[in-house]
This record gives sequence, C-alpha cells and structure tokens, in this order.
Amino acid sequence: MIIDCHGHYTTAPKALEDFREAQIACDCDAHRLAALIRPRISDDEIRESLEGAQLKLQRERGSDLTVFSPRASAMAHHVGDEATSLQWSQVCNDLVARVCRLYPDNFVGVCQLPQSPGVPAAHSAAELERCVTELGFIGCNLNPDPSGGFWTAPPLTDRHWYPLYEKMVELDAPAMVHVSASCNPVFHATGAHYINADTTAFMQFIQGDLFKDFPTLKFIIPHGGGAVPYHWGRYRGLAQDMKRPPLSELLGNVFFDTCVYHQAGIDLLLKVIPVENILFGSEMVGAVRGIDPESGHNYDDTKRYIDASALPAAAKSAIFEGNARRVFPRLGARLKARANI
Ligand SMILES: [Zn+2]
Repeated sequence: MIIDCHGHYTTAPKALEDFREAQIACDCDAHRLAALIRPRISDDEIRESLEGAQLKLQRERGSDLTVFSPRASAMAHHVGDEATSLQWSQVCNDLVARVCRLYPDNFVGVCQLPQSPGVPAAHSAAELERCVTELGFIGCNLNPDPSGGFWTAPPLTDRHWYPLYEKMVELDAPAMVHVSASCNPVFHATGAHYINADTTAFMQFIQGDLFKDFPTLKFIIPHGGGAVPYHWGRYRGLAQDMKRPPLSELLGNVFFDTCVYHQAGIDLLLKVIPVENILFGSEMVGAVRGIDPESGHNYDDTKRYIDASALPAAAKSAIFEGNARRVFPRLGARLKARANI
C-alpha cells in the first residue's frame, strides 16, 4: 500500500472560493458572518473536482491513500479575525470530510486549524477535537506563523502552544507544520515562506525542551524538512555548541516528508535522515504543477524518486506505508481494522 501523507484539496469547487470572498466582505461583522450561507456543493461537483485531478494522479502514479487537508495557501490565518478563521476552518474541514466519506479508500482527513495572530493557541483545540472525534480526521496542519510572513507568534516550543499540544496528545493526532499564504512580499509563499518555516520549526525544536514536556507529541516537517537535511552538519554543530542534546533525540518526535522535487534532493534526504523518520508525500496537486523537461515527468511525481533510489525494498515499504501507519496511530488502527473485516 502506498500512503501519500501530504495532499491538499486545491481543486475544490468554485463555490468554496465564492464563500470565502463573501466571508472576507463581511469585514469581521459577527452578524453578517453568522448570516452567511455555507457553500452549496453537490456530491457530483466534489467527484468532478477530484476525478480528473487527485484521483487520476493516484491511479497514474500508483499511490493508494492520500492524507488530505484543505488547501494550505488558502488557510490565510492573517485574514479577518478569530470568528472568521473559525468559520472558514469549519467550512473547509467539512468539505474535506465529505471527500473522505465519498472516497474512504482514497482519502483520509487532516484538518485546518482556526488560528489568528495574537489569539491563544488553546482556541484551536476545539476544532481539532471536532474533526478527529466527529469527522474521523487523523491529524492537523499547524501554522507556526498565523501572521502570514511576519512571524509574530512565539516559537513552537513556547507554552503559548501547550493547550493545543495537550489536545493533540490526548487525541493521538500529529501535526504537519504548515504555513499558509505570505502577505510579506519578500517571501514567495511556496518558494520561500514554506521552506523557511520548515527550517525554522526544526531549529526551534533544537532550542527548546518541548519533547521533555510532551514525549508523545509528533510533528511532520513537510517539503523534505526545508533546508534541514542539506544543512544537517550545521544543525548538529549548533546543537553541540549550544549544549543541546544530539539531533537524534528529536527523531522520536519529528518526521519529514518526501516533497522534494528532484532525484538528487531525495537521495540526500534518504542518506541523511533515518528511514523510519521519512514519510512518503507528494503535495499533489499543489505547489509545483509542471513537467520537468529533464526527466519528462511531473516534478511532484515523488514516487518515482523513491522507486529510483538505492534503498532496499523494506526501507521503501517503510517510507511508503509503515511509517505513516505508525506516525498517524489513528490511521494505523483504521487500516488494521479494515484489513480484519
Ligand atoms: Zn502542503
């Protein structure tokens, strides 16, 4: 089985975007927000939005199940206020839940969290709980920078985030560290802001004692861990200079995906990071949609790079399946139950 740990609903029907525009036009007025009609989207429209995109690519590329979340760049936590963000998260999560109900073999949900600059992270916990206990989701996307490129939130190791972590631990629901759009023009969203955030999160984990307080808390750092694997020696050296524990101590809690869009990058990732810390991911349909003229294949067809790597079959299988089952315990339990039916 091949589990893609990183996919977004980037092809959602236009009614979702229209709803968001209407929502932003409410300008944080609570009465107008409450009066908004939720987007009307039929099951057929959902099927249509996926059949020619994510489902087609799953079939063509040979993946089975995608860990699926709302479109990351559209989370835009910097837009509106807390009530706006909560409503938007609920609408997006409910839509992903419908996708998962229509295609239970192809998609399993991960939620967008309601977050807003300056708002306590504790306020995100209720939506996580709703998504896990009512919608059957298995984790969340946590934005370390709800300001959208200005980094006004405390580091991920700060107690600010602890109430959310308590809920994640209670629910056994890991988080992918995932920023959203950049409203700071110096950072291109997917080219700079995303990769910066991945790198920044890892450095924060080195500096803090988070996993002493939460030994079972788990994070996936996407996009191959940003600059981390490439600069592994720098991070090892910094940890040493700062009298911090060796990086291996973080690896019980921190995992990386394979959303690196060329063979040499994947080969480096596989060489530097232990196999048990790597989860197969493609982020399709997403950040980079074109075809690499050098290979003739889509940049984000990341399964090809794993297939072409020198790893033994058992290691490939761990990356494709076993690690995702372990890191997302709710997914592991569900797949096991399904196999026993
Ligand atoms: Zn993503």
